Formats: sequence, structure tokens, C-alpha cells
Amino acid sequence: MRVRFAPSPTGFLHVGGARTALFNWLLARQSGGTFVLRIEDTDRARSNEAMTDAILRGLGWLGIDWDEGPFFQSDRVGEHTAAGHSLLAGGQAYRDFSTPEELARDRANIAALAGEATRAARRRAEALAPGEAEERAEAGEPHVVRFLVPEGSTEWKDGVHGPMRFRNQDIDDLVILRADDSPTYNLAVVCDDAHARIDMVLRGDDHLSNTPKQILLARALGFPVPRFGHVPLILGRDGKRLSKRHGATDVAGYRHDVLPEAMVNFLALLGWSPGDDREVMDPDEIVRRFSLGRILRKGSVFDADKLAWLNGRHLSRMDLAKLEPIVNTRLAKLRHGAERAVQDRRDWYGGLLDMLRTRARSVDALARTVLLYLPGEIAYEPAAVRKHWKRRAEVQEYLPALRRTLDGCEWQSKPLERALRGLAAEFGVGAGRLIHPLRVALTGQAVSPGIFDVLYYLGRDLSLDRIERALGTLAEGEAKLQAATSGRPAPA
Ligand code: GLU
Repeated sequence: MRVRFAPSPTGFLHVGGARTALFNWLLARQSGGTFVLRIEDTDRARSNEAMTDAILRGLGWLGIDWDEGPFFQSDRVGEHTAAGHSLLAGGQAYRDFSTPEELARDRANIAALAGEATRAARRRAEALAPGEAEERAEAGEPHVVRFLVPEGSTEWKDGVHGPMRFRNQDIDDLVILRADDSPTYNLAVVCDDAHARIDMVLRGDDHLSNTPKQILLARALGFPVPRFGHVPLILGRDGKRLSKRHGATDVAGYRHDVLPEAMVNFLALLGWSPGDDREVMDPDEIVRRFSLGRILRKGSVFDADKLAWLNGRHLSRMDLAKLEPIVNTRLAKLRHGAERAVQDRRDWYGGLLDMLRTRARSVDALARTVLLYLPGEIAYEPAAVRKHWKRRAEVQEYLPALRRTLDGCEWQSKPLERALRGLAAEFGVGAGRLIHPLRVALTGQAVSPGIFDVLYYLGRDLSLDRIERALGTLAEGEAKLQAATSGRPAPA
């Protein structure tokens, strides 16, 4: 199976494009076929190299690799034009000398002419005397070349929607060569798909109306007609076509937060279902299970919560060795030198990541939590402070006692736990009365992994420092505490 992804580099790699690329890649990988990448850069005014690079990088990030290309459509303009001329020579296309006024009148009459409007240009061309079109073209009179859409109907068995049929009378005599002899999109695509021996074109529903035109053109040119499949649109939560209004649609925008495995998983489920309730899948499994027959016929909704959930699942289960460098890249961005600090303590870091990742839903959040376990300032979450440092006098009594008791311990979670529980018993309170304020002192937060693991991974010095600092903050009273929770500088 030879399939292709043919983006126009007029924007970044957006979610819909990435999904089209992925589905084609899946078909190729699962059938041992060939995935061809073609950049449709013929719209010079709107295409640029930066966009092409962004698309290639986006695919690279997702792990969507191509076997042939990238080919550039603009490299074959000469062939496309020649194909247009061959249709002209064979009487399957005609020169259209319509003036802008005539074309405007055609458009205005479209409703009245009921389906015949698109033939107005053809009728004007037929009215010319024999040889007149060639003479006027040679004399340099501006004109376009239109494809002469044959009678009848055009049918295909769509890989997603099943049998499809268009009446040819509803299909415009489309322009194939512009006034400057440059080929238009449909002609170029047909030539390039044939040249690359593409046998399956899988793309978005927005191309449905192009398909009968491309089938007719391929036949007229004597090219084999590929199979076609059209994947339904991706919708926003409001049921409208997904657009920037719904949030980030540029795939690269998710790079800092989302794992490529999670994005691939998410994109695969946008319009395809494996047929059971399994949702969390690695690319290999998706390659094995993907099938055209299970592409959904209805549009699917882009659900950012589901993406975050899948990301959390993949963060929890992926190979730690693969996760580390991803988190490290983020760490380096968040705090200079942080990535080196963790790399120097490999075993510790592996254990820490393994503990933290089960709660994280984004790479950024995971990296930020890692920072809590490195020396440095922490911020106290206002809600955590309000809830767990409410009885300030009590906290000011417990924390110093905890500091003393823990300091005398072997720094492993079991002995730390025994010591804390012993201390709680001495105070005659439940362990939670000590644990909650301690958690705020250590992490600034109300939620964390088990407190004894937190202590263990912070280590003795940092844990005791954090308790000390919390006591300092508490001693300085309300103003300091408010400053510490708001991130504003403390009053002098
Ligand atoms: N270049 C077209 C686009 O980006 C796709 C062409 C095709 O898949 O046939 O929409």
C-alpha cells in the first residue's frame, strides 16, 4: 500500500493535519507499505519554508516518519502544466476567454440556471469559430484552461463512507491552468499522486468535493485511479469545526506538556475506535489494531481533558529511561542547572520520578514538582496554608518537635514514620495533625505523595531546612505569611 500525506505549508501542523498524517502512516506501517510525504507548496504567496520546517518537526516529534520525500509539488510544475496541455490537445479541456464581467454574471445567475451555471463558460467556448481559440491564445489574449467535465456520474467506494456518487452536471468545469499557465490544485494533486503511484488517498472530509474532480481528471489523463477515504472533521466541544477559538490547534503547542505517545494515542482515537474499551495504547499497539473499517463516520470532538488524562496514563507507564530526558529538557527551561542537579543523582532521581509521575498529567507539572525536591525556595499555596496552618500556635509547637525528632532518625521512610507516629502519640493527637502542617512546610502544598516518601526524597538537610523556614515564616506573622503565599516580596 502506497499512501501519502500532502500538507500545504500555509500554517503549522494543526491537529487535523496531524491526524491525517497519522492515519496514513498507520496504514503504511501496518501493511508494510510506503508512506510518502509531499509538501504542496504551489501557493507561493501563502507557503513558506518556516511552515514547512514546522510541519516536518511536528511529524518528527510525533514519531511519524516517512519513507519517501519530502517531495515538493513546486518541483513538478512543468509536468502539471504539460498534463493540462495534453488534455487541451485531446479535447478534454478548453480555453476560456470569459471576461471578469461575464464570470460575475455567471455567478449571479447560478440559482436561476439551476445546475447549468457552471456550463456558461463552456457554452461561450463552444460558440467560438473553429481555430479561433488557438489564434486568440497565440495572440496572447488572457484566458484560463478548464476541464471539460464529461456527462454521467462519478462514483467510488469510499474507504470510510462506503459508496459515493456525484452527478457530473453538478461538477464545475474546473480551471486546471490559470491565465499564467500555472496548474491549479486538483490537476497538480492528480499528477503527483499518479507519479508517486499512490493507491490510497486518505484525507479529511473537507476534500470530499475534490474527489470526483480528481477521479475524472485521472481518468482523462489515463492514470490509474487511487482508492479514496475521507475522515470526518474534528469538532470543538460546541459541535462546530475545530478552530483556534477552541484553544490550541497547533500540535507543536503541546510539546512542553504532552508526551508524543499520548498525542498519537489521542489523535488515533479522534475518529477511530479499536472496537473495545481499551483506550490507552502505545503507537505499536495502534499500528497493529488500526483499520480503515473502524474509522468513525461522524465527526469527533476534541476533548482537552481526555488528552490530559491520556497524557497522565502514558506518563505513568512509559519507560523511565525515555521519560527522564523529556522531563530534563523541561527542567532546564524552568530553572537553570536543575537538569544537572538531578542527573548527578541517578538512582535517587529515577525513584523520585517514578513516585511523582503517577499523579502528573503534564510534563510541565511533573517537572515543576521535581523542582520541589531540589534545594531552593518554595511557595506556599494559600489554600494549603489556610487549611493546615490555621491553628498557628499548635503548628508552631509541632514543627520544632518534629524537627528535633526527625533529626535523630535514620533517613528511611520506615524509621521516619515510626518517629512521627511516636511523637503524635506523645502529643496525644492523631498523626494527621502533624502530617498536614508538615506537608505544607515541606512542599508548600496540601497534596503530595506519602509524607514519609516525601521526607526520604527531600533528604535530611533539605527537610530540616524547610521546617526551619516554615517556622521563620510563621514567626513573622500574618504579613510575611501573606507575602509568602502571594509571591509578593515580604515587607521589610
Ligand atoms: N494540500 C492539501 C491540504 O493541505 C491536501 C491535499 C490532499 O490531501 O489531497 O489540504
